[in-house]
Amino acid sequence: MIKEKKVKVYYIDEDIKGTCFLVQGEQEAILFDPGMAYYGETVVQRVKEILGTQPLRAVFLTHSHYDHVAALPYVRQAWPEIKAYAAEYACHIFEKTKAKQMMFHMSKTAAEESHHEWKSDDYKGELLYADKPLEDGDRIALGEFVVEVIETIGHTQCSVSFLINDEVMISSETIGLEGDFEGGYVPAFLISYKKTVDSLRRTREADPKQLYMPHRGLVIPDERYWKYMEKGLAATKDEIIRILASCPTTEEQILEMEEVFWKKAADGAWPREAFDMNAKAMLRTVAAEFPEELSKAKSIQK
Ligand SMILES: [Zn+2]
Repeated sequence: MIKEKKVKVYYIDEDIKGTCFLVQGEQEAILFDPGMAYYGETVVQRVKEILGTQPLRAVFLTHSHYDHVAALPYVRQAWPEIKAYAAEYACHIFEKTKAKQMMFHMSKTAAEESHHEWKSDDYKGELLYADKPLEDGDRIALGEFVVEVIETIGHTQCSVSFLINDEVMISSETIGLEGDFEGGYVPAFLISYKKTVDSLRRTREADPKQLYMPHRGLVIPDERYWKYMEKGLAATKDEIIRILASCPTTEEQILEMEEVFWKKAADGAWPREAFDMNAKAMLRTVAAEFPEELSKAKSIQK
């Protein structure tokens, strides 16, 4: 009989509805999406408390957004030997000065808006990079763990989800956000709706037994859950087409997006500036991918 290797998953920054998950085996552990810069020191302290003398083997990044990765320098300072894995596209983003400046700016804004103290002058931005590029289908063997890479483009070009030991999934943000079926589905397809539909299908086909979603935590990926996500995603596209057709200016469209999506997603933790950037991206994406549906909706409006 094959001995089942059980892993334990900790939602490290749950109190800020963050993105950081620690997957712990019997002898070692791996970390996913260290999270917000202002929370980096807290994340390191919590991980150390859980691990004791166990080693931290690696860090995996689901994509290159500041709220998922900006705490990486603190992790590197605590575990100087550690290697960070990310999609190849994400590896390139970390090499771009402008992108890094934006991450720093957004990290500062997030700290201010959520009233967290952050010593940004001490921030070691040069430690924010990935060492190992990942490709779809890669299976990374690390001690007790096999981490399978599932490309999930849609939120960003660099989004990937991870399936650990064919059992536990840490999903990217592409498929959208939902945990408790109460707040409603929150969309996150910034660069492509069509690829997001495909990514959601691939996530489902990976057949995880447990699914951990950024900003939400553990969900049970049963039939009800997948139906909910698929319906939520499709309904969002229809809603955005309605907004595009009924609001003549971008400003009005964004205000309407805030009304429909931001208020239920925000929990005070999502800076308005970041939401508005995302809203603009989703409006643009739907307009570009569904020109015919949009002109039909506009002609009905008249
Ligand atoms: Zn993101």
